[in-house]
Amino acid sequence: MKILVINAGSSSLKYQLYNMTDESVLAKGLVERIGMDSSILTHKPTNKSEMTEVSEILEHTTAIRKVLHALTDKEHGVIDSIDEIDAVGHRVVHGGESFKESAVVTEEAKKEIRRLFDLAPLHNPPSMMGIKAAEVNMPSIPQVVVFDTAFHQTMPEKAYMYAIPRVLYSKYKVRRYGAHGTSHDYVSKEAAKFLDRPLEDLKIITCHIGNGASITAVQGGVSVDTSMGMTPLEGLMMGTRSGDLDPAIVPFVMNKEELTVNEVNSMLNKHSGLLAISGVSSDMREITEGMEKGDANSKLAFDMYTYRVRKYIGSYAAAMNGVDAIVFTAGVGENSTVLREQVLKELTFLGVEIDEALNAIRSGEPRRISTEQSKVEVLVIPTNEELVIARDTFRLVQ
Ligand code: AMP
Repeated sequence: MKILVINAGSSSLKYQLYNMTDESVLAKGLVERIGMDSSILTHKPTNKSEMTEVSEILEHTTAIRKVLHALTDKEHGVIDSIDEIDAVGHRVVHGGESFKESAVVTEEAKKEIRRLFDLAPLHNPPSMMGIKAAEVNMPSIPQVVVFDTAFHQTMPEKAYMYAIPRVLYSKYKVRRYGAHGTSHDYVSKEAAKFLDRPLEDLKIITCHIGNGASITAVQGGVSVDTSMGMTPLEGLMMGTRSGDLDPAIVPFVMNKEELTVNEVNSMLNKHSGLLAISGVSSDMREITEGMEKGDANSKLAFDMYTYRVRKYIGSYAAAMNGVDAIVFTAGVGENSTVLREQVLKELTFLGVEIDEALNAIRSGEPRRISTEQSKVEVLVIPTNEELVIARDTFRLVQ
């Protein structure tokens, strides 16, 4: 069975084609600048040469048509015909309370995703464009939606409710939903496999630290708390997002600077985080470089960022009354030796002992970076959100 995984953003569309017989990736790629001039399709087939095409792609339907052309191209293609694709799996950011797990796309499911636009105005509309575009291009192929929030639907009320008037929950469903669910789910399961211990017995703290970043407390295989909130703005400091702050700052700044709702949203989502504090970049590599060159702002950004990761780990260890394993994943978590070192070196009160040599090793494989004596296992596990989407799609269409 072959499954096409689609991750649609407002102006981009990522894809991967899986052969589920051995879960191998046949091809992957990206369409960028949809709706702008000079859209770019980058197609990377496994075992064949890469292809780049610049053209005008005004909307997602054309983007998917181009992707299907690339997948069936004589020179760069990996399948003979679109009919070889058995199902399409879509990443959708927000499933609200309606979707506790992945679902086959039906008229009802689409209606529900549309209803959730309110909760994720930046993220769900592009996902819907991706679904529609796939339906237009592949009308007879089943579609599945996999939600970033679904894994966190197991959180208890005490973790997902905010201490604000209850009417806001009953009227608008204001509550914590979390994000990166497919990643936290995947790496917690991989951690149990790596440790060769039953997931049901483990208390794991998964740190998905990429451009967006979130930490989850996974107890017995289910999410019991997570740092992102109703939207992906809460929690850790991120590349351009503020993460936690005193909510009173929002009306204060709006008043002083005469900002609109959109402007303050943009400030907190796009002009805060590492970028705001360092004044240099939202990219951890450049922050680390700046720090090495003695730039004080980069150092402060790095210190604030790592301090918050450490505080969340500490609080989730308290939430679960213990921790067996801490897992690092995503762009920064998998690659930044200095970040992991800085976070872990002051978690000795939990019994964490890091092995510096193991921490310095670079490999794309799951690995342990704690010492044999460490009371808590510390692992680096490359995430694979696309594979989770492919697996769920496979399971649901079989
Ligand atoms: P992601 O959102 O998971 O794709 O992560 C992207 C982020 O990972 C980038 O913005 C970088 O900040 C970070 N990153 C990638 N490689 C490295 C590296 N070698 N060291 C530190 N950070 C990295």
